[in-house]
Amino acid sequence: MNYKSTRNSGIRVSASQAIAQGISAEGGLFVPENFPHYSHTDLLELARCGYTERAACILSAFLSDFTAEEIQECVTAAYTNGKFEKDIPAPITSLKNGMQMLELWHGPTCAFKDMALQLLPHLLTKSLKKIHSSKTALILVATSGDTGKAALEGFKDVDGTLIQVFYPQNGVSPMQKRQMCTQEGSNVAVCAIEGNFDDAQTGVKRIFTDPEIKQLLEQNKILFSSANSINWGRLLPQIVYYFSAYCDLLANDTIKCAGEKINVVVPTGNFGNILAAYYAKKMGLPVHKLICASNSNNVLTEFINTGVYNRKREFHTTISPSMDILVSSNLERLLYDLTENDSERVVGWMKELAANGRYQVGDDVLCPLHELFYAGYCDDEETKEAIKELYDSEHYLCDTHTAVAANVYQQYVKNSKDTETVSVIVSTASPYKFADSVLSAVSDQYQKDEPEFDKIQKLSELTGTAVPPQIAELQAKTVRFGTICSRENMKEIVLKTAKIEPQA
Ligand SMILES: *Cc1c(COP(=O)(O)O)cnc(C)c1O
Repeated sequence: MNYKSTRNSGIRVSASQAIAQGISAEGGLFVPENFPHYSHTDLLELARCGYTERAACILSAFLSDFTAEEIQECVTAAYTNGKFEKDIPAPITSLKNGMQMLELWHGPTCAFKDMALQLLPHLLTKSLKKIHSSKTALILVATSGDTGKAALEGFKDVDGTLIQVFYPQNGVSPMQKRQMCTQEGSNVAVCAIEGNFDDAQTGVKRIFTDPEIKQLLEQNKILFSSANSINWGRLLPQIVYYFSAYCDLLANDTIKCAGEKINVVVPTGNFGNILAAYYAKKMGLPVHKLICASNSNNVLTEFINTGVYNRKREFHTTISPSMDILVSSNLERLLYDLTENDSERVVGWMKELAANGRYQVGDDVLCPLHELFYAGYCDDEETKEAIKELYDSEHYLCDTHTAVAANVYQQYVKNSKDTETVSVIVSTASPYKFADSVLSAVSDQYQKDEPEFDKIQKLSELTGTAVPPQIAELQAKTVRFGTICSRENMKEIVLKTAKIEPQA
């Protein structure tokens, strides 16, 4: 199977090229030229398999230039070997109220990014071998928190790779900072930059295209690569857990027969996670509604409801920071699909977005959008209420991002009267990753100025839930990375990580 670009349907690359390259040269995103289809009988068969088998089956349909053995090696390395709690990467907790919580945060960094970033390094190193022989990949990441840590854990000590993460000095939570600065591994580097996330992102993009650096890297047999969610290698692993969740619900009789439809509720930022659910539906997974949940940065709610995408609005810093985003890159892939691969129209909208901060789609896109999706949002107060309500009524503790999904699901039920459809709520982070907000939602003894680890302890005692060891052990870990650099010095930092002497 080959891959096309959303901005030029004439382009054709192999799976390994799409993964190694990350993004198409003209700025488009790679999408598969067709999608395999799974029948109800296929679903019944998958239901008898474990997670890695389900993953191998779905991956092999898309990675036609990988051998079965290579795919098996990748999924085994990612999802077994104790990386995920009990080797069950994506368990479902069924609540009394019928909500099926798909918990994607039992990996090394306690956020759903692990589901893809534990697999991506293996896909990437194999892809590079297929197209470039012996070069080392230098992964550059600008992060606002979760992606940086998950990428570091994924690429830690992976042969043939180096990883450099930049985060905004004052733009990540204390826990996220701690997670990154105590990172172990011989091929990792982390640096704070003076500035915000946009500065980090701009700096990284500039380095990617700097001709001098490019030449120096080439002389040293190194090439840049990306671990962003625009990389197909990050989306593909996310399709798997929607199939797997359906199979689990089939196997435990929550779903009565293969073919019964489910709702999927996704707390959304860059539109990667919910796009994977859309692709799963396209591939035959019986999905009724894709429910897109946003926080106060509700650009997607407006888009799905009205067809107007408008990023010119106030940016809100919320208690669900991984969804604080105004330009959702992966929406481009959905638009490409809904226009039946009309790259010219997609290019037009993306140009309008860059020039005027806004574009509007026509009824031919809006109608299927309404058919497929339901969209809603809630603010920080409502997010905390949702945490408290789930805790009080179900004794279930969820994080702030998951709580946004729970709130929007309740809105959906109220508006649609759809109380019958089995609904999967995608739970994207451990509550301990956002302990401050979660504690303040459930406890009347919350003190704002208490140290982070005291709050974590309090949350555990109050709720009788265990602190994930990955978080507990951070307290005693040594800080390895304390460098802060200016935007101008990012280049030097990257060369140092690549062990290249700057030329006089
Ligand atoms: C990244 C992230 C999201 C948003 O996912 P997208 O794929 O960007 O839509 C939601 N919740 C958490 C905890 C995240 O880290």
